[in-house]
Amino acid sequence: MTTTPGQRAADDLTAVREQWGDLLAAIAEPPRAAEWMPYERRGFLDQLAADDRADDDQALDEAAVGRLPLILREHPAPANLRALDAALDVEREVFDMCDAVAERVQLPARDRHGRWTLGSDPSDPRLWHLPTYRDAGPTTIASTGSRAFGLHWAAVWLEGRALDDDQADRALFAPTPAPLVDQVAEVARTARRRVEAALGRTVRTLTLNEPCPFCRAGRITVHNGGGDPRAAAAVCSTGPTCPAPVDAERGRRTWRGPALVELWVALEATSEQRRAAA
Ligand SMILES: [Zn+2]
Repeated sequence: MTTTPGQRAADDLTAVREQWGDLLAAIAEPPRAAEWMPYERRGFLDQLAADDRADDDQALDEAAVGRLPLILREHPAPANLRALDAALDVEREVFDMCDAVAERVQLPARDRHGRWTLGSDPSDPRLWHLPTYRDAGPTTIASTGSRAFGLHWAAVWLEGRALDDDQADRALFAPTPAPLVDQVAEVARTARRRVEAALGRTVRTLTLNEPCPFCRAGRITVHNGGGDPRAAAAVCSTGPTCPAPVDAERGRRTWRGPALVELWVALEATSEQRRAAA
């Protein structure tokens, strides 16, 4: 069965909003030397280094996170600029796409003051409201419209217009033209790629600069699992003679799951020894 551009757009937008909370949380975390670590495992590293951050503050941040859009929020100390850049770009692109789609397909009507507006009932929550400007351009923004509800809401709204499969929507929206659906699909695909890349969830294989901390000779190759932390694994090139305290797979010492954190700790310990000796 072939998927339509509308379905692909909806799938990618769903993936973006499901990972949005992780991306926002990542903004507050310093990027680590262990960028090879699957995002899901980095939480263990936080536990190891828990002394430098108050857990209460973190819980509070995470409860508030995901609601307010980034453009409306202060970033007193973003720790991971790469994650912040990705989030700001994705947010802007998705919001702009919502504006463009609303301008094309949302049906005009008069609001209760008799002004022409987009949408048959301006208070209908299914409508997208464009930002309004006082006079000239984005620097004089007067109202952020539906952007105030954040990325998650924008993604849900855009999914609806890309799929366009609810007859009840005909009261509010003209059918979304195919070229516009293609544009939405492209924006959604790019957004998903950016989010997954910033979270280290794109498929990657890399060789670490540090030699294996157990045999001090082997090269360590990491397969990041491409977003599936269960598939992530690190392998020492030495073979069964490497004394690392993990099982061998196909004759090579292999770290998976929580053992990846143990490997990280061992790597940190050896690089610290080297710094102390230098
Ligand atoms: Zn080794």
